[in-house]
Amino acid sequence: MKAHILVIAALMLGASCVRTNLSWTAREKTVIFKSSPVMYVTTLPQDSTILRAKCLEVVEKDYDSKELKTLLEKMLKTVTDPSQEGVGIAAPQVGVNRRIVLVQRLDKEDEPFEAYVNIQIDSLWGDIVVLEEGCLSVPAQRGPVPRYSNVKISYIRDGKKVSECVEGYTARIFQHECDHLDGILYIDRALEVFTDTTWAAQRENFTYERPEWF
Ligand code: ZN
Repeated sequence: MKAHILVIAALMLGASCVRTNLSWTAREKTVIFKSSPVMYVTTLPQDSTILRAKCLEVVEKDYDSKELKTLLEKMLKTVTDPSQEGVGIAAPQVGVNRRIVLVQRLDKEDEPFEAYVNIQIDSLWGDIVVLEEGCLSVPAQRGPVPRYSNVKISYIRDGKKVSECVEGYTARIFQHECDHLDGILYIDRALEVFTDTTWAAQRENFTYERPEWF
C-alpha cells in the first residue's frame, strides 16, 4: 500500500513540471510592463481562470530577459507592500502563469525574500503538521492546512539548476506557493475555512481595483 502511495506521489510531482518553448506572450508582456510597481493581485472569484491554470516554465533564453527582471522586482514590491504583507507570492497571483515564486526565507538570517524560477517540488517527507494559512488571493479567509515538514525543491539560479532541502514553516510556504503553479489553492487542502474578521477589516483600508486593461 505504502509503495502505491509513493508511486502516485511521484507521478503527481512529475506532472507538475510543465516544459514549454513558449517565450513571453503579448499578454504577459502587457501585465509585466503595464502594471504599477505594486501589482494588482488576482483574487477569487473574478480571477479564477488565472488562479486555476497550470503554469508553464520560463524558457532558457528568457532567464536574463528584461521581462523576468521586471516581473521579479514588481512581485517583490507587491508581496512586501503594507496592503499585502505576505510571506510568499506566486506569479499567477499577479496575472502571469509561469513557474515563478518569491518566498520569505524565515529560516535565514534577516529573513530575506528570494526568487525561484522554474521551481518544482522533488520530494516531500517528515511529519504532517497542521497550521493555519491564508492567501493574498483568497481575501479575509483562513484555515488549518496539513503540510509536510520537509521538502526538497529544485529551481534555476544564475542560469543553473539548483536543489535544496527546506524544513519547518519555510517548507510550508514553498508548498503553498508551488501549489499555486498547479492551480491549487490552500482552500483545496484546508480542513476548514473561516472568515478572519481582523484581516477583513484591515483590507478595507486599501483599494483593490483591477486595472481595466487586465
Ligand atoms: Zn497563496
